[in-house]
This record gives sequence, structure tokens and C-alpha cells, in this order.
Amino acid sequence: MPIERRKSVRVQIGAIGVGGNAPIAVQSMTNTDTADARATAAQVIELHQAGSELVRITVNTDAAARALPEIAAELERRKARVPLIGDFHYNGHILLTRYRECAQILAKYRINPGNVGIGNQDDANFRAMIEVACRLGKPVRIGVNWGSLDQALLAAMMDDNARLPEPRPAGEVLREALVQSALRSAAAAERYGLPHDQIVLSAKVSGVPDLLTVYRQLAAACDYPLHLGLTEAGLGLKGVAATAAALSILLAEGIGDTIRASLTPRPGGDRCEEVRLCQQVLQSLELRSFAPQVTACPGCGRTTSTFFQSMAEQIQTYLREQMPVWKSRYAGVENLRVAVMGCVVNGPGESRHADIGISLPGSFEEPKAPVYVDGKLLRTLRGEGLVDEFITILEDYVRVRYAPRDQAASVEAAAHGIH
Ligand code: SF4
Repeated sequence: MPIERRKSVRVQIGAIGVGGNAPIAVQSMTNTDTADARATAAQVIELHQAGSELVRITVNTDAAARALPEIAAELERRKARVPLIGDFHYNGHILLTRYRECAQILAKYRINPGNVGIGNQDDANFRAMIEVACRLGKPVRIGVNWGSLDQALLAAMMDDNARLPEPRPAGEVLREALVQSALRSAAAAERYGLPHDQIVLSAKVSGVPDLLTVYRQLAAACDYPLHLGLTEAGLGLKGVAATAAALSILLAEGIGDTIRASLTPRPGGDRCEEVRLCQQVLQSLELRSFAPQVTACPGCGRTTSTFFQSMAEQIQTYLREQMPVWKSRYAGVENLRVAVMGCVVNGPGESRHADIGISLPGSFEEPKAPVYVDGKLLRTLRGEGLVDEFITILEDYVRVRYAPRDQAASVEAAAHGIH
């Protein structure tokens, strides 16, 4: 059954819609020094090429704010048209008012209400940032984080709780404070003139059960689009598993309009992993398609050969390398499903469910590999050169099955009466 998404207003961030009926957008964040315009532009381009539809950069100093025009010029020169989001903390009110060009270039501002003075008697800093957003027509993400929660609000809520005949657990009050911080800040932003459909909310924590509770409360309390992410997800497998667990549960409940995976890359690691993880989560839930999927069996004692593992990897790599070309050439190729299976037990069945599949011989089986296309046996491969032959069949299949892009566009235009 398809996932039914929670209803939300649509916020336009440059060319990308977030919320409403817009596809769930993938976003990422750079980890370069923003003041280093060349390095930052290079990483923005990398993230965008990997599929990030929005890229956030920190704007934390005068030098960072001054670098924005150079970053934007380099992106334009390289034709990387991706909306940039400015991440502001503590001094955002100063930077956004002092550097008009920076404020103009950014497609959205992220404001953390916990560290701009909101909740204190005087929320002039928050107000100053909202007023810039209003003047320049920019949307804002009110991004609450439990590591920097509005302390005045939390203290007031803890005091109220302590006065109850039966005080609630402190963790419960903390989660409610996160939700309230986001909602009250959004209400304040609207009071200062920001339109309702210019606000995105997030309230990130680093524990999966807490994140589920907080986002369910947020989703029930408002129709702002929600930016979903587990903060400080961590390194390696732990970060991947925690992010996938948290995002998948909420997305399956229809919660989340844009997502980010806050993975910690290993030194010298690939920042684009966070983009690919988001894409894989969305594709696994069948919410969006980004790249052909390879189904491969895990292997077991029925096959002692690792040939099918390396074949699955070679095909996955081949598909990844082909995608930039295929995507521009063939409409819908990202929906392709390929199966590479290790023996006769599930091989033919799984291969038949895929668009194109191969079932390799297990130990003691006859050395032959049937290839199935659209559920029917096409051919049986044998011997050396099996991978190359399979890839040739795959290429032919893509060429025949998927319409060339210009043709697909003209069919669609004709269907809509566009000439
Ligand atoms: S398809 Fe065959 S080799 Fe692969 S896991 Fe299943 S039984 Fe084992």
C-alpha cells in the first residue's frame, strides 16, 4: 500500500518545493570552512551531483558571509543550480543585516531559536533575522536542536512541571519543550510578518525513540513542512543504521517533507554518503526513485563461490557509473530493478520478479545461469564472459524499454495539449 503523506503547506526554496505535494527533498550540509569559497563551492557541487537538492552551509563569521558571492559565482560558472541554505547561530542577526548580498544569495535561512535569544525578554535578534527574511522574500527553517534548546523556555516548563501534584518525568518535559520551542518560534515569526507558507520546522535529537515522539507531536500540532533528521547520528554503521531506523519509521507514517542524514564521515571520507543514504531510504520505502536497484541474495552454504557477490558489486558499480548518462537519455530508467542471485533455490523466482535477473549456479549445480527479462526466461549463459554478456543484455534492455528523454517529453506535452 502506498504511504499516505501528512498534509502540509508547500514552501518554495529556490526551484525546489518542500511540503504539499512536492517530492520529499534530499538535502545535505557542507563541512568546509565557508570562508574558503573555492573548497566550499567544490563540495556543494559534489553534493549536488550526488543528488542533494538543497545544500546548507554554515554562515558563522564575517569572512563566511563575505564568501557567499564568490561561492555563488563559482556555482553559476559550473552550472550547479542548487539552492543554498544559510545556517545561522548566535550572530545571524548581525551577518544577515550587515551582508546584504549574502542574505540575497541564500535561498533559505536556518535559525536555531535556542541561540538567538528567543524566549528571553527581548527576542530582537530573532526578530531582526525574520525581518530580513520578510524583506527579501526568503523562507526560514526554525531548527530546534536538543543540544542548544531554548534554556529560558525549558526552565519555565520544568518549573511548571515541578509545581504539579505529580510531576512528569524530566525527559517528557524536555521533549515537549523541543516541540514548543519550534511552534512558539514559528508563531513569533508569523507575528513579525513571515508568511505561514515560508516556514519549515525541525526539532532534532540524537536518540531514535525520542525523535519519533517529538516528530509525531510536531506533525500533529501544525501543517508546516517538516525537515526530518536525526542529529549527530554518528560514525559508520551506527550512524547509517540509526538514521535509517529513525527516518524510515517516520516517513512510513507520512511524516517528513525533506530529509538529511547527519553522518560523521571518517577522516578523508566521502561527504556524499549522507546524500546516498537519504536517497536509499526514500527508494527503499518506494517514496522516490533515484537509481536502478540490485537485489542480491546474501549467499549461504549452498554456494561457496563468491562469484555472485563480485558480480552483484560489478553490476551495481556499472549501474551507478551509467546513471548520469542514462538519466539524461532515458525517461524512468531509475525505476529499473535488477536481481543477481546465488543459486537455484530463490534465484529464478527472485529474478522473475525483477525487470532483469540472473540466477547463478550454486555448488554442485549445473554450471549455467538463466537470465530472465520481464519475468520470462530469455537466455541461459555459460562459462567465461558471463558478466559482460549480462551487461550487454542489460544495456539492450534499457535501450528498448525506456523511451528517449526528448520523445518522452513530447509524448507528455501532447498528452497535456502543449505544442
Ligand atoms: S539464493 Fe541460494 S545461495 Fe542465495 S541465499 Fe538463497 S539459498 Fe543461499
